[in-house]
Amino acid sequence: MSSSKSSSMPAPHRLRTGLHHPVLRTWQSEAEVTLADIVYPIFLTAPRDAKEEIAAMPGQFRLGVDVVVDHLAPLVAGGLRALLLFGVLPDDACAKKDGTASYADAADNPVMEALPLLRNAFPDVLLITDVCMCPYTDHGHCGIIENEYVCNDASVARLAEIGVSYARAGAHVLAPSDMMDGRIGALKDACIAAGLEQVSVMSYSAKFASAFYGPFRSAAKSAPSFGDRRTHQLPPGAKRIANRALVRDIREGADILMVKPAMPYMDLIQDAAAQSSLPVACYQVSGEFAMIYHAAAAGALDLKAGVLESLTCLKRAGATILITYFAPQLVEWLGSSE
Ligand SMILES: [Zn+2]
Repeated sequence: MSSSKSSSMPAPHRLRTGLHHPVLRTWQSEAEVTLADIVYPIFLTAPRDAKEEIAAMPGQFRLGVDVVVDHLAPLVAGGLRALLLFGVLPDDACAKKDGTASYADAADNPVMEALPLLRNAFPDVLLITDVCMCPYTDHGHCGIIENEYVCNDASVARLAEIGVSYARAGAHVLAPSDMMDGRIGALKDACIAAGLEQVSVMSYSAKFASAFYGPFRSAAKSAPSFGDRRTHQLPPGAKRIANRALVRDIREGADILMVKPAMPYMDLIQDAAAQSSLPVACYQVSGEFAMIYHAAAAGALDLKAGVLESLTCLKRAGATILITYFAPQLVEWLGSSE
């Protein structure tokens, strides 16, 4: 028999000696959220002077091209360093939708118009652009439909075209959110062929079919008109295929991996960080935002403590890039310490 373990293990109360002083507690923490980690998702729409609060996402707006710079200026001045841009068509512009999402990269698309304005107004801010067809297809799906199915190869070719248009308009990073096979390689190849080899690709690698997208769908008005996106988004219980998707995107040349949603999928964030040395982003989606916001509004938890804890734990799991709608509050809470 070996000797008793108790002689070689510290008594449990000795753990407290590492935590009794605020500086010691900081030293025990391996993850700290700073503004450099934060990406703020923005919804761009028409008309040009639009500023519509999104009912399901209090404090978040659909913004027109003429108001977006003024809206963001205080946040950028406060230390916000990265934006993720989404385009949203207003209800009266449905005629612009078609089977190939031709409005996605039309010259008067709000994202296409906003990119050069934002580059000029905020030269130090990183501009990430969502690349997908669903805001602009008449059926609301993320690709080109043939015989009631999304056609992978035709969709990938069109996505690469859209990505190059956004890169030419000023996007530093393209973030394809469609989950088609081959789109990372196609985007990289198309950018290189267009002389835009410096453009990075942030891949929505592990994107789950989630109930937590509900408020976003009302923000982006992007619920599909028939069927759903379950054939190209992962089932919530699927860990092994999610890992295969991560490996696929690493092999295709992704520069940044992303897991979406964030909090319910922290094991995949950990897996993504373990699988490669690429930076890992996670998207604290609209339903996670609403959950924390409304819990705080109901007095169930403190907003600042809840938001900071949620993001600190996503960093602890392995994410170094935190996409969150709480960016304005984080500028207020963390900006002065930058
Ligand atoms: Zn889509």
